[in-house]
Amino acid sequence: MVTLSIRSSAIRLGMFISTLVIAAIIVFQLVWLKKVYRKEQKEFDQSVIKTIRGLYEDINASNYNYSHLNELIEKPEAHLYLARLILPVNHDSLVSYLQYELEDFGIFTDCHIGIYNSASGKYIYTGVLKSAGTKAAKKQSSAIPLLNREYDHLTLFFPNRQQYILAQMNFWIISSALLLLVLILFSASLYYFYRQKFLNETQKDFIHNFTHEFKTPVSVISLAAEVLKDPAIAGKPEKLATYAGIVEYQAAYLKSQTEKLLNFAYIESGHLHFSKQRVNIHELIETAVTNLAPLINERKANLTLELNTSNPFLNANKDYLIIVIMNLLDNAIKYSKDPKIIVTVQNRGDHILVSVKDNGIGIEKRQIKNLFRKFFRIRKEEAYASKGFGIGLSFVKKIVTEHGGRIKVESEPGKGSTFIVELPAG
Ligand code: ADP
Repeated sequence: MVTLSIRSSAIRLGMFISTLVIAAIIVFQLVWLKKVYRKEQKEFDQSVIKTIRGLYEDINASNYNYSHLNELIEKPEAHLYLARLILPVNHDSLVSYLQYELEDFGIFTDCHIGIYNSASGKYIYTGVLKSAGTKAAKKQSSAIPLLNREYDHLTLFFPNRQQYILAQMNFWIISSALLLLVLILFSASLYYFYRQKFLNETQKDFIHNFTHEFKTPVSVISLAAEVLKDPAIAGKPEKLATYAGIVEYQAAYLKSQTEKLLNFAYIESGHLHFSKQRVNIHELIETAVTNLAPLINERKANLTLELNTSNPFLNANKDYLIIVIMNLLDNAIKYSKDPKIIVTVQNRGDHILVSVKDNGIGIEKRQIKNLFRKFFRIRKEEAYASKGFGIGLSFVKKIVTEHGGRIKVESEPGKGSTFIVELPAG
């Protein structure tokens, strides 16, 4: 068992490291995409500035010393560029030069043009240079914004700048999406592998427990049979009775274990169709305690029953409900060194609460969610030493749920556990 837990902790560590690596790759990918986007933005801005410089040269429209272009060009918004001009200019030739320069510097998206006259405070010319590079679906029909300045200027407005830049990044976006897909598939396979491993381990555990549960009583019975076969035993009636008692006890134990497995197999195959009748929970608990008397005596368990609710009636299946109580009591005794158990029944609203409290080894918080999984057993030496298949609680939960109820666990390692079953009163 120790090897199993080492193996599963190694797998858990592996899973944890893989998750970290995958998360790091995703973060790195996002940061990198953002960098590429910034770079593309910068390149677009530089191409527009080069276009304006080319335009100045083409139309000779500026007496400015345009080696200091940043003094001549203002960029109030991401999509907007203002370039100082000295008016008047021939706007037809300005537009045709501009078209030429834009193409020259590889800007293939719609460009809205405005020539602003500071004296009148408005555009004296506006137009649009349509680009075949702008896909119809992505077009935005935006009017060119008017920005009042004290100087005459040319406004260049690119309403589809962002889509255009993203389109330039298509290759990177698609390759990132593919990488993400690969990572998701990889994570899914890791998860599947881990689950498969967990199921394999629980299955191996089950086979181990099963063999252990059946091998020991069978060995004891064979040994007792050997002794009983000896003709000399006929002269020792008290020895004969002792060995017959051993055989009887072990046979009864085997019978109860077989019944447990059969019940489990029956319920697992989806056969939990039962009739309900009026059940007195106080009487049911007393019967469960009587059935468990041999175990209670063997373990010298101290059992306190607080059965004093005003309404102890439920609408339930007696045979299944007794299995619930017996399983909880059985566990409370099994997982306590010197068992002191308190069974309480209370009425809460239109529900009945049955709690089984023990002073046993307790359960760690992180294990509580696994308790009701079939074949689950806590791999702790002291818990593992007790016999069991790990099916009792999954069985209990199924029955309680089928009755419209709930089961809750409160526990503190080293101090004990309380299992609380809440069922609708009938
Ligand atoms: P089994 O007792 O046959 O192993 P169960 O399904 O009844 O199977 O319980 C599952 C596991 O939950 C047990 O192996 C044990 O580790 C833990 N457990 C159940 N009841 C208690 C309890 N009262 N105190 C401590 N541990 C418990």
